[in-house]
Amino acid sequence: MAHEVVLIPGDGIGPEVSEAVRHVLDEAGAPLFWREHQAGQAALDEGGDVLPDATVEAVRRTGVALKGPCTTPVGKGFTSVNVKLRKTLDLYAAVRPVRNLAGVESRHSDVDLVVVRENTEGLYSGVENEITPGVVTSLKVATEHACTRIARWAFDYARRRGREKVTVFHKANIMKLTDGLFLRCAQKVHDEEFPGVDFESLIIDAGCMRLVQDPSRFDVLLMENLYGDVVSDLCAGLVGGLGVVPGANLGDGGAVFEAVHGSAPDIAGRDLANPLALLMSAVMLLNHLGETRSDPDCRASAKRIREAYDRVLSAGLRTRDIGGTLGTRAFAEAVIEHL
Ligand code: ATP
Repeated sequence: MAHEVVLIPGDGIGPEVSEAVRHVLDEAGAPLFWREHQAGQAALDEGGDVLPDATVEAVRRTGVALKGPCTTPVGKGFTSVNVKLRKTLDLYAAVRPVRNLAGVESRHSDVDLVVVRENTEGLYSGVENEITPGVVTSLKVATEHACTRIARWAFDYARRRGREKVTVFHKANIMKLTDGLFLRCAQKVHDEEFPGVDFESLIIDAGCMRLVQDPSRFDVLLMENLYGDVVSDLCAGLVGGLGVVPGANLGDGGAVFEAVHGSAPDIAGRDLANPLALLMSAVMLLNHLGETRSDPDCRASAKRIREAYDRVLSAGLRTRDIGGTLGTRAFAEAVIEHL
């Protein structure tokens, strides 16, 4: 049985990396069929909204999407499509597994952690005001409901995946109410529901220093929206960069798989982008379908693709961002040859 999956190519390098990934998945015989929908600048150019209702409805209906990055204008223009999609579908958990890949040089060789980010509130609530010319505010929102459910998601994930520890990054010493609530909810969920998983809390600045010094001491990292955005990129830097870190946005309204990186307009349209982060996100998508729809064919395709890109990297075949010479298309072809 083939599963219907929404494909959102996105902006910048999005169309190139999505095309490459779709090609690999099709050649691997993944039991999927694609329903393409637009979002971001591409949707705006087609004369519509940055996040058309048809795109949201398609994700809601199929329950699963593979999404390229969408541009977010800095300081002006439309609000982030990524944030809007996550909020509209209530995809409250962002999960980003960060681990070393064979053949990809990096600062550390023992990284295997997962960043779990609250995806719907915090400073990304987008409630900003100009109080008076020259004075602006941005509201940081934390609700007991959202803090509790993301903590429950992180501990449940840790238990299901056999991970031993959840570390909360926070700044509750300064933001006593908002981060204080986040921390208290995590502690309560741990104490009452998951006492078997280790719990640790660190003030985020000290946590970042320790991450850079010794990432091997971390397992699952749990944090609010903005911290999760920043720390995800920091963690990507520990294992080779943005080209090698996948992600998923999960919630009751669906599951949207996308790389941690953005639209990288500086290299767009030049066959330079690394499609691996989106390919790894597609592998997560297949495993998700394998799990939630009990489809062994999805799991088998995921394994096949993962083994193929591992072989490609081990053979020294890489894109430029991780020290190789291959372009986007050539990398995809190399993976297909190694399937
Ligand atoms: P956006 O505004 O959409 O977030 P950005 O360029 O500000 O885009 P990223 O796309 O996350 O932010 O990337 C930062 C830099 O990292 C890019 O300019 C690019 O040089 C590099 N980069 C990101 N993703 C990739 C990739 N898949 N392959 C190669 N280089 C990448």
